[in-house]
Amino acid sequence: MRTEISEMAGLTGHTGTGGAAPELNWAGNYRYTAAAIHRPRTLEDVQDVVAGASKIRALGSRHSFNAIADSPGSLISLEDLDPGIRIDPAARTVTVSGGTRYGTLAEKLESNGYALPNLASLPHISIAGAIATATHGSGDANGNLATSVAALEIVAADGTVHHLGRGSSPDFDGAVVGLGALGVVTKVTLDIEPTFAVRQDVFEALPWQTVLENFDAATSSAYSVSLFTDWSGDAVAQAWLKSRVSGAAAAEAAFAGGTFFSGTRATVARHPLPGVSAENCTEQLGVPGPWSERLAHFRMAFTPSSGDELQSEFFVRREHTVAAISELRALSPRISPLLHVSEIRTVAADQLWLSTAYGQHSVGFHFTWKQRQAEVEELLPAMEEALAPFNARPHWGKLFHAEADSVAALYPRFADFKDLAERMDPEHKFRNEFLARKVFGK
Ligand SMILES: Cc1cc2nc3c(=O)[nH]c(=O)nc-3n(C[C@H](O)[C@H](O)[C@H](O)COP(=O)(O)OP(=O)(O)OC[C@H]3O[C@@H](n4cnc5c(N)ncnc54)[C@H](O)[C@@H]3O)c2cc1C
Repeated sequence: MRTEISEMAGLTGHTGTGGAAPELNWAGNYRYTAAAIHRPRTLEDVQDVVAGASKIRALGSRHSFNAIADSPGSLISLEDLDPGIRIDPAARTVTVSGGTRYGTLAEKLESNGYALPNLASLPHISIAGAIATATHGSGDANGNLATSVAALEIVAADGTVHHLGRGSSPDFDGAVVGLGALGVVTKVTLDIEPTFAVRQDVFEALPWQTVLENFDAATSSAYSVSLFTDWSGDAVAQAWLKSRVSGAAAAEAAFAGGTFFSGTRATVARHPLPGVSAENCTEQLGVPGPWSERLAHFRMAFTPSSGDELQSEFFVRREHTVAAISELRALSPRISPLLHVSEIRTVAADQLWLSTAYGQHSVGFHFTWKQRQAEVEELLPAMEEALAPFNARPHWGKLFHAEADSVAALYPRFADFKDLAERMDPEHKFRNEFLARKVFGK
């Protein structure tokens, strides 16, 4: 067995994401309390480590903003496992180690003529970590990243390997967005499609009134649409449109005259934050390029080791979009001073039990906060109260206030998920403080 075990405190300087201190998450706002981290190199090592641990949780690329990944015992990282990327052209799937980052997979797929349907804003996140929290991109017809999962290989609490497939395993829909509570996802099989090209266009200063009157038309104008705002003022600051080039003629027609719902076309590349250089952003100005270099907002080659930001996000049914925006704009005097920027995206409905888009076409209201955590945490209850009439579901990997009782009411299959976790992890090896407070209840 070649498992490496390191004391967390002694890991500073380990080759992590660009040399960040690995006892901290990417944003540096959370310090893991786990005493040790295991870095197995084979599936058998993962099995041994999990079977031998009393408390353990999988750690992805550390991009979550809360304590979800922490463990009162030890952590296990799959970063040292070979990605083992295997494309199956007949099944139109790719199988890859769970610790692999989306950017690594995207490059490999693109060079073989294939594509994933969507990406999140950042390609540096691990695949298993992203699907565990229902991470998403945008697009009316695009499900979140977990909806591309066709099969999972999971090491359960007793060290046994389980294979769950979409359509063939009754527990599959409960296991994909698993919050790390069911086991260690060692392999993920994802749907793929032939590669496609995407152009990215940015429009600026879209009047709120026009956006609200035409929200569905605006978000259906391109394959993926993101609206950036700080909630103050009368206009949405930017709209980022990612259009598949096969649909470029239609996209061009929608953008005719250089305007988009009264917003004007940006003539230089933009960063979502005003005044910040766009050099780390994926190419814009309508230049077509491979999906792998357009669907994320940020380039893979740009690897920030840490971030001067915090994040929260809430999802509501599409029908509630305008009313929810009205509530958030009313809170802008409190939100805007703490905010770098907000992003509004759409996500198609799915059937994954703990997915934030479970059973409903959704709109996500994302907040990139300044690193003023105490003030953000003070504001979150007011925001959640304002969005409560719309049964807003918080992003699992970001900052939110709600606790298990109120979270449970948001998910029709919540009790089924708890039963599944009990079956797969009867000794609660994969539980932590976050799950106790937000999911299982104390
Ligand atoms: C700059 C930035 C941009 C972001 N952009 C987006 C975005 O566009 N859309 C969006 O939805 N979110 C976004 N996020 C949030 C991010 O996608 C999620 O927090 C995601 O879970 C991070 O993945 P990770 O690999 O870092 O997981 P971690 O934070 O390390 O872990 C998250 C969860 O996954 C579990 N997990 C990790 N690996 C495994 C495994 N192998 N088996 C079982 N469970 C596992 C952990 O136990 C934990 O519960 C962003 C975050 C940052 C920092």
